[in-house]
Amino acid sequence: MAKILVVEDNALNIKLFCDLLAAHGHQPEGVLDSREALDAARALKPDLVITDIQLPHVTGLELMEMIRKDEDLKDVPIMAVTAYSGVGDDERIRAAGAQAYVSKPISVVRFAETVEELLAGKNQLAQTPAPQGV
Ligand code: MN
Repeated sequence: MAKILVVEDNALNIKLFCDLLAAHGHQPEGVLDSREALDAARALKPDLVITDIQLPHVTGLELMEMIRKDEDLKDVPIMAVTAYSGVGDDERIRAAGAQAYVSKPISVVRFAETVEELLAGKNQLAQTPAPQGV
């Protein structure tokens, strides 16, 4: 069982992600407002952070940079979830500090596999193929 912080501004997605993580035996905590995410991470001390990239107020890239600069959180693995996967996304997301990202709409299997890989300490950039027609 792992403590996993989920930052996602879409209520349906955050429920989907948290339900999925709970079904895999984990303890998810969802944060809808990214302005609360850093404080929530400091309080929870998660084993993994999953964050949307397209967030109002504090973007996923900004949040990842804040986590990487935080003395207590800098080594926590981060999985980004992005609605758009285009040229340059890979580099930007990697540079901001994510070990992996999964494209939305998510593959439930790929999402769960990537979570387990990161929790197992495989610091590799895993990427799902870009969805067709986006
Ligand atoms: Mn979003």
